[in-house]
Amino acid sequence: MTEDKSRAAAIAAQLNRLRDDYLSRLPAELLALNTLAGGLAGSEEDRAQLNELHHRLHKLAGSGGTFGLAALSSGARSLEQQVKNFLAGTLDAVDVQTRLHLVSDIAALAESLSDVRTSPIPKPVEKTVLTTRQRVRVWLVEDDVVLGNELMRQLTAFNYEVRLFARISDAEAVAQNESPDMLIMDVIFQQEGENSTEVFAQRLNLRALSCPLIFITSHDDFESRVRAAQLGAASYFLKPLDVPRLVNRMEQVFEQRQAPPQRVLIVDDDVDLAEHYRLVLLGAGMEVDVLHQPGAIIEKISAFRPELVLMDLNMPGYSGHDLAGVIRQYDNWSSLPIVYLSAETDLNLQIKAMDRGADDFLLKPILDAQLIAAVRSRTERARQLATQISRDSLTGLLKHASIKDAADVEVIRARRVGKPVTVAMLDIDVFKSVNDTYGHAVGDLVISSVAMLLRQRLRQSDSTGRYGGEEFVAVLPDCDIEAGYLLMEDIRQRFAGLRFSHEGIDFTCTISAGIACSMQYPDSNGSALLVAADEALYAAKRGGRNQVRAAPVDK
Ligand code: GH3
Ligand code: MG
Ligand code: MG
Repeated sequence: MTEDKSRAAAIAAQLNRLRDDYLSRLPAELLALNTLAGGLAGSEEDRAQLNELHHRLHKLAGSGGTFGLAALSSGARSLEQQVKNFLAGTLDAVDVQTRLHLVSDIAALAESLSDVRTSPIPKPVEKTVLTTRQRVRVWLVEDDVVLGNELMRQLTAFNYEVRLFARISDAEAVAQNESPDMLIMDVIFQQEGENSTEVFAQRLNLRALSCPLIFITSHDDFESRVRAAQLGAASYFLKPLDVPRLVNRMEQVFEQRQAPPQRVLIVDDDVDLAEHYRLVLLGAGMEVDVLHQPGAIIEKISAFRPELVLMDLNMPGYSGHDLAGVIRQYDNWSSLPIVYLSAETDLNLQIKAMDRGADDFLLKPILDAQLIAAVRSRTERARQLATQISRDSLTGLLKHASIKDAADVEVIRARRVGKPVTVAMLDIDVFKSVNDTYGHAVGDLVISSVAMLLRQRLRQSDSTGRYGGEEFVAVLPDCDIEAGYLLMEDIRQRFAGLRFSHEGIDFTCTISAGIACSMQYPDSNGSALLVAADEALYAAKRGGRNQVRAAPVDK
């Protein structure tokens, strides 16, 4: 939290410095514009000078508002239009009166310099990005000791780091120095009175903790739910608790936080503006790269792999329109979101710019918050689409074809770097009977619990897929057969410890797993390793289920 704050402060300072630099250069820029306008002769000779004037006024219109000078932006924009009109006609017709007007209008722009608004303050980083798959720290505040301990046991099995508090005041004391990633609490506390949500909210200062909050309660009345919503509860669970559903919700809440920062490429020849946008997006927790030379765009995209390109429309040499056309020629980038950010107000040019498959057109100057929102919603939608294509909808794991690809890719990579890779194949034991006894919906919940457990327990660099109905594959780079065995054995035990419940009946499930390591199969590709893991899985099934076996196995 303090790290976020000092980062936000550093970004704010950089933004201020950038704006001050811009403001300090403005008088000279206005003087230069004045000289250009004053030198016009009212003949065809003026064309180069007018083009230069047009370009500089266009830039000023785009940048002024961003640095707090809205009047400068709009003044420059109308002058830009005027010069554009000159350029469209015969220059001999621009009489001396008109030229003098232009000079005095430019001089008048200087008056708007006194209009500087207060410093732009970037929005603080709104979320802590968990970059690696850190263990999530959960505080559980529950006065029912038996329930609290059981919930702690099950959440720990899902690899959460759980700290149990029997009293609000205990949590409050620890909150002086530490904060959790999530707070799960009972609404009503016997020893602290009926109104303990209020007490808790005031004393523990939930907003300062700024972590997601889930209420667990036996009160299903509307008033309690409204109170929970007002306190910003992410969810509200009724007792008796369905732990896999609770974990599912916790995962959803964390998914956004765990998502890696969005990668945005800014293409703009205006160095100050590009830097301003970079800092604003950086302040919103994104990863940003800037390109000033449009000619290098494909190299830049290949290296940086942006999820969105924010592109100026008018740049010397090439237009944004040309660059979008080039990007779209590459299969890999044919659906990369491209958003124009331009001072171009000509509707025809805007429409023309969009016809190369750009996704949006934002007008300069743009409010910082508006820029962040536009970029965020575009990248999030693009991510959702990519997820729908490669991920299974029930579990969020990779689909059959994608996990097979991952196995092939990782085996090739492992051979190149001389490291092992282990693949594991897991299957739920006698799963048919779960469906038959409790119904298909409960069966689905058991399937998603395996997925949640795998996601919680594996590393970011591991790949996990749903291989078939109740079959899973994990690909574990840099993991030998012993480490793979211990890991799968741990997952097997955790899963066996989970308690599912349906209509008041508790039950447990088990899994069997087979593993195979590339070191034992020096000439095999990913598919052959999967076959070997499958054989080991069936050895585990034949051996009585609820166990892990390593390949090669005796036939
Ligand atoms: P074993 O211990 O040998 O693995 O026994 P099993 O009953 O788990 O194996 P079997 O392959 O015979 O049964 C798998 C069952 O999984 C059959 C199928 O109806 C069920 N199944 C497959 N996909 C889904 C799904 O998406 N949801 C649910 N609820 N069940 C599914
Ligand atoms: Mg099975
Ligand atoms: Mg099966």
